[in-house]
Amino acid sequence: MPLGSESRDILNNFQYGSLNAEFNEISFYASKSDATYWKLKSHLASLKSKIKELRTSNEGDKNRPFSAEKKASIVKDSFIVKTKGAPNTSVNKGVKSRKCGYCKQDGHTIQKCARMPC
Ligand SMILES: [Zn+2]
Repeated sequence: MPLGSESRDILNNFQYGSLNAEFNEISFYASKSDATYWKLKSHLASLKSKIKELRTSNEGDKNRPFSAEKKASIVKDSFIVKTKGAPNTSVNKGVKSRKCGYCKQDGHTIQKCARMPC
């Protein structure tokens, strides 16, 4: 029976924790002397390459039956629709600079215009 991706993750997490605990214990004993340290090191090196090899050869078969199911259950971000809302350029960004009603220059209003005859 194929597992759902969620229960698969839970199982993987559990397996990771269980292995971690065992390796922790092994590391504790192996670190007690040089001989046991180097013995474990060499064992781990060969073990690591074996596991990696196994994983890469299994990966193809393992992912295939789940891929369609996985794709259907994944909710992705919605599409960004560029036609909605006001265009970016005309969005009011704070206070507009005001123009003088008399001389049409920026920075002052008609009340403070220097060119305005009193
Ligand atoms: Zn002015």
